[in-house]
Amino acid sequence: MKIPKRFELAGNTWWVKIVPADAVSHNYGKCALHSRTIYINEEETPEQKRQTFIHELGHAICATMGYQDHDEQIIEGVAQLVYQFMITKRGKHDVDSD
Ligand SMILES: [Zn+2]
Repeated sequence: MKIPKRFELAGNTWWVKIVPADAVSHNYGKCALHSRTIYINEEETPEQKRQTFIHELGHAICATMGYQDHDEQIIEGVAQLVYQFMITKRGKHDVDSD
């Protein structure tokens, strides 16, 4: 999975920036709702960056749905399971064939 530089949610463009550790207070990343930007700590491993992206995407999705005050534990649980799905999925089931 490649981390996108930008994506859209409900017609709004979001940006993803890989930044120095001090820009995210030495956390893995952060989701800035006002600027629709996900920041990811450049010092983390590629795997951690992908996990952080999925986590912060969860915050962006919840905010887009109107849940500004959402639960961090649910975000992290869903993010971990979505990440597991993404790295373990295999094969294609093409429902559009014939
Ligand atoms: Zn979080």
